[in-house]
Order: sequence, then structure tokens, then C-alpha cells
Amino acid sequence: MALRIAEHAHLTDVGRQRHTNEDAYYDRPPVFAVADGMGGAQAGEVASAMAVEEFIAQRDPDASPEEQLEQIARAANRKIWDVAQVDSRRAGMGTTLTAVIVGDREIAVGHVGDSRLYRHRKGELERLTRDHSLVEEFVRQGRLTPEQAEKHPQRSVITRALGPESDVEVETFTVPARDGDVYLLCSDGLSGMVRDSSMQKILASHDALPDAAKALVEAANDNGGRDNITAVLFRVEDDGTGNGPSPETDSYDTIAGDVMAPSTEEIRRAERESPAAIAEDPVPTAIGSAVRPRAPRASPPSALPSPDLSSRPRRPSRRGRLLARGAVAVVALALILGGGVYILTKSVWFLGTNNQGVITLYRGLPYELPLGVNLYEQRLVSGVPALALAPDRRKRILDHQLRSKKDAVDLIRSLGAAAAR
Ligand code: CA
Repeated sequence: MALRIAEHAHLTDVGRQRHTNEDAYYDRPPVFAVADGMGGAQAGEVASAMAVEEFIAQRDPDASPEEQLEQIARAANRKIWDVAQVDSRRAGMGTTLTAVIVGDREIAVGHVGDSRLYRHRKGELERLTRDHSLVEEFVRQGRLTPEQAEKHPQRSVITRALGPESDVEVETFTVPARDGDVYLLCSDGLSGMVRDSSMQKILASHDALPDAAKALVEAANDNGGRDNITAVLFRVEDDGTGNGPSPETDSYDTIAGDVMAPSTEEIRRAERESPAAIAEDPVPTAIGSAVRPRAPRASPPSALPSPDLSSRPRRPSRRGRLLARGAVAVVALALILGGGVYILTKSVWFLGTNNQGVITLYRGLPYELPLGVNLYEQRLVSGVPALALAPDRRKRILDHQLRSKKDAVDLIRSLGAAAAR
């Protein structure tokens, strides 16, 4: 007996704090995918759309599902990279891609970045992908606990993406599927806002997948909706025929396609703000990808306090410089003692990224305390996406090393100079 796709659903939402949706998805059995673009205005949404567009191309019938997924991801990578080389507005753009092809009795997975694939089976939710992210690497190395990783200011920094380099390493694997399994593909706007245990409860309590998708998106928004939220869900069951899979004859035309086309009001709003962007939107909605009309990003995400896009870093005062050097030296001791941490957070600095993956200068310590108390505040957004840097350099810079104000400001200035060249 083979498996068929009994039901599938998708939902994408801009969230509560962003002005554009840089996520895209593909929902056409037996292929499902989620892509989460990054790189700032008029770049992230282009990259994610290009990634899902690649699934329209004819797949190589002689290749295995894993090989097909790798070929598609690498082809998309190359195209995104090419565009980024010739168009300065798209420089450094990138996207995650997590995609599956459902076979007779198994699911082939292709994965780059920190979008996720989960399986809900008999009331248990299991994550099947590992994030290609800095914090997940730190967790594997024992440098962070999973709990610290969840709250870490650099949790959105990914170590692999489509677009930033001319080739990409695609992780592929295959998992056996069983009658009744529900699979969830999602962007980090869901998994970063809703705990796995809450997602499990939602999936267990909503039989109809459109209802489950809606409840998942609502939960992410209820928790703050800091990022774009995308969920793609499908359920497999035994087809009862003893024959092979029949993806062409299942519910192919139920909800794939243009159900997520932007509303008239959204189009009008976007046209007012950016008429050219509408005209050049490369993604026809009928292919099953969802990309909202592009509008200029009005302000940075406000997940972190006091974004300040306009100010240039001021020259630190002499007193400030002396204070900062001392503070870096004693910060570990102060952490142990517990006292005076708040004052120290005013005199140490580090580089991280904001919610959009743009390198950002923070004052304080790269930690959050319980009850939502941050030990850092955002001081300057550089305009340089982390993905624009070579991986080694990116890692070095974002290693949440505590720096004096002068060092941190000099470093972020040098990034700006490098990007401008
Ligand atoms: Ca995201």
C-alpha cells in the first residue's frame, strides 16, 4: 500500500511588526516548500520568490527525489546569486529553503537555512530538520543551552542560505512516512514565536489542516508576531489501493495556487507606495507561491528596543573609552557576582544582527533575562546584511564577543566602508 496526500493547507502572514512579507511557499502535491528571504527591502522577497519559482521548472525524471531537491536548490542559488551580482539593490540577498517531495512511503527533504520541517505523529511533534544557524552550532558545541539559543539576539543569523555565494551545500535526507502523519513546513516567524509544545497542542486539537494553519499563525501573532509567519501543512494516509502514489489524482486543485493572492487593499496600498515594484514583481500568484506586493520598508522591525537608523555612531568620549576597556575585563566577574550587571550593560558593546539579518551595533550583553528583560539595546543598524559577508568573517564578527565601544563602532564602520566599495 502506498501513501497519498489526503489533505494540505498553507497560510502566510506578514506578522505584527513587519511591513512586507519576505516569506514564500510552494504548495503543490507532491512538492511542498517554504522559503524565508532576507537582505532588506526589495531583496529578501525577491530571493524567496526565486527559490520557490524554481520548482515550476521540469524536474529531472531520472534523478532521485533527493537529487531533484538538490538540483532545484542549487539552480535557485545560482540564479539568486547572479541577480545579486548585477543589481546593487539586491546585493547580499538570500533565502532559506526547506522543501519536500512526497514519495510512495517516504518523504525526501532538501534543506538550507533555518526554516523547519516538523512531523506530527500520534500526538507527538518531532522536528526533522536542524537549523543551519549560528546558535544551533553553538548549542551543538555546548556553548549555549537550547533555552539560551531560543532567546539569543543572534538567533536569526544563519550559516547557510541560497544566494550569498555562487554555490551552496544542500542538506538532503529521506524519512519514512506513515499513515496519518501530518507534516509542517514553517519559517522562523512561527517556530521562533511559538514553542514546539504549543505547536504540538495546536496540531493535536485541529483536525482540519486549514484550521490548524490558522491557529498556528494566530499563536505566533498572539506572541508578538515579530516576523513573517508561514506554515505549510500536509497529511498522508494509506491510499488503500495497493498501488503506487497518485499525486496527480489527489486533491491537487483544492487550495494550491492563488488563494493567497494579495487583497485589493494591499495592492492599492503597495501601488501608492511603490508602483514600480508591483510591475516588476516576478512571481505570478498562480504558481502556488505567496509573495505580497513589495512596498518599501518603512521602518526596521522593532523586536529590539530603540532602533536608530538615522544616527551615525558618535565618537566615543575619552571617558567612555576608558570605562569600556575596564568593563570588558571585568564583565565575567560581574556576571558571577550578579550585581552591577545593569550598569555594565551600559558600557560594553557587541555586534549582532537585527530581525532582518542586518548587522547591528548593540550596547550591553548579548542575553535576555526572564520576563523579557533585555541586557542589550540596539544602537545602530549598519545597512550591511550578515549574509553579505563571507562565512568565516561573518562568524568572527558575530561571535558575540564583548567589545569596547570604540572597537565595536570601528568594526561596524569598517563593514559599512567595505559594503560601499
Ligand atoms: Ca524569518
